[in-house]
This record gives sequence, C-alpha cells and structure tokens, in this order.
Amino acid sequence: MRRHRVAPPGAGTLDFQLSRMVMIHQPTTDSEPQAASGVPGMDLLAGAVDSHVHCCPHINRRTVSVFEAVRQAARAGLRGLGLMDVFANTSGLAALANRELGRLGVDVFGGIILEPYAGGLSPRSVRTALGMGYGDGGARFVSLPCHHTAFVACSERRSPAYVDTCLAIPEAGELPDPLPEIIDLCVEADVVFNLGHISGPEAVKVAEQAARRGCRRLLAPAGYLSPDEATAIVGAGCLLEYSFFVFTHATDIPQTMIDAERHRFARADFSRALSIVRSVGVGNVILSSDSGAVVLPPPVEAFREFLVMFESCGFFGHELRAMSADNPARLFKVRSAPAAPDEDNHV
Ligand SMILES: [Zn+2]
Repeated sequence: MRRHRVAPPGAGTLDFQLSRMVMIHQPTTDSEPQAASGVPGMDLLAGAVDSHVHCCPHINRRTVSVFEAVRQAARAGLRGLGLMDVFANTSGLAALANRELGRLGVDVFGGIILEPYAGGLSPRSVRTALGMGYGDGGARFVSLPCHHTAFVACSERRSPAYVDTCLAIPEAGELPDPLPEIIDLCVEADVVFNLGHISGPEAVKVAEQAARRGCRRLLAPAGYLSPDEATAIVGAGCLLEYSFFVFTHATDIPQTMIDAERHRFARADFSRALSIVRSVGVGNVILSSDSGAVVLPPPVEAFREFLVMFESCGFFGHELRAMSADNPARLFKVRSAPAAPDEDNHV
C-alpha cells in the first residue's frame, strides 16, 4: 500500500507538495491500487473503508453496479466496501462480489435494513441475512429501517395511516417487540446493529437499551443529531456515522427512495457535525459516502470529496484515517484480502 502520510490541513510545506508530486508521477500497474491519481485527496482513500454504498439493483438509476463499485474502490486503494440497500439483504451480493472480485483486495460486506420490502422488523429476516453467503459468513450489519420509521414518514408528510405502520419507539417502557430479540441476534452473531433513521431521542433510547443487552457493535446515523443526543449515544458505546449524502446538493433534489413518491432529506449542518466530531473524538466516528444515487458522484469520488471536506476544516491525516479506515474496519470486521499478484488480476 502506498504511503498514507498526510500533511496538516492547509499545509503548504514543500515536503507536502513534493509528496503529492511523487504520487502523481508514481507508475502503477493493473495489479496495484491506483491512488496516484493527480486529483488532490485521492491519497486519503488508500486503505479506507466506505461502509455505506448504494450500488445494488434499485428502482432508481445508480451510478455504478456492485462490480463496478468494487473495481473503482480497488483502483483507489480502498480495502472495504459496505453494501446498503433498502429493498433486500445485501450479504448474498457481497459474497458474490467477493467470490468474483476478491482478488482485487477489497473486502465487500453486506447486511440487512429491516424495511418492509426486505422482510421488515422480523427476527426470521435477520437470521436469514446472518446466514446468507457462500459459507464464510453472512450479514455483517442489521439496521433498523431508514425510511419506514415514524420519524422519516412524518418528515415526508405521509398519511397518518402510513405513519401508523412505521417503527416508532415509545418514550417510556421497554423497546417494542421484536426489537429486543433482533438486538440479541446481533449480539449473538457479533455483528453491527445500526439504529437506522429514527429521531434523536429515539436513537438515544435504543442505543442505551441495546448496550444494556450487550451490544458492542452499535452504529448511529448522526447527520441530524443534536450535540447532546450525539454525546448520549456515544456514551452508550455507539459509534456515530457521518455520511456525505446529507451534506450535499442531493438534499435539494426530490427523489424516489422506496416508492413512487419523491422526497427530499433536509440538508444536515456540516458545521455542527464538525463540532460534534471534535467533542466526541474521532475514535467514536466513522465516515461514509452514502453514494450511488445518480445525483451524486460515484462512491469513490463522493468519499474523496467528503474526506477533503474534513481535511479542509482542520482534520489531520491520522484523524481522517481513524474515521475512514481504522474505525469502520474494526466495527465491520473488515478482512485483509491482499490482491494476488497474478496476471489475471485486472482491475
Ligand atoms: Zn444510505
């Protein structure tokens, strides 16, 4: 793997500039990562893990297929790629991608978002996802719904009858069934339990109760969390995930997400995110692209832009590496899969 040295943001040192020039002119072959692109910031992707990519078959256009996403990730030197999809468990597609392109050195992993179209909030769906693969493991994450929640449905001004069918976490009392059983399945399998898109107060409650049940691989989408909510969630041992999508122009464009209706996400506040990351520490944060939709750059470029945003706002190389590589690799148990040096190793 090429060097990961990154100068402090804004550094104009000769050494920093030379290191970039060396990268630009360093020759590459088909069998090694090509992070040497002349585009600034490509070096930040070496060894990174983008745990949130939407490249699976969809009702909307995608910028890349699963295989294209893996090839592009390999060229940029990424070591892990997480497939997110609201319509199906993705651990089978991840297994297929690894079998077909594993030689490129990118560990592809999948999981299930418990939307109705993927089987819903069902322990049976979770069990199936956990076993779905080619014999070397299934889902590496289980997520509460990202769309079929009262929080999102209300923000989309869906009908009361629709909202009634969505996940809502009551303020008082235990978590509603079957959440405890689903969390226990994640604990038993030692996979990530993702809180999905629920409200901040709901996320705090679910994180704390999941931690009480022994969950040690917790992840919370954090774009809309307040500082207090983020602090409480981290206090439960849950990592925060900041994704590129909600900080971009993609939030200005009404899109179909799960059905024929077009909706927008609210634009998340990047300054607030920076402040929260500084407050909770980079050890409690992962970054991802959440890209694949046609209104955004393809995932590799989206992830580069996101890392450059943080770099430009004062984050050092080792901090970026913690959030983009070390933390997600540890959380999702990303496997080392060095590319085999053979002539069949075309990226
Ligand atoms: Zn997403």
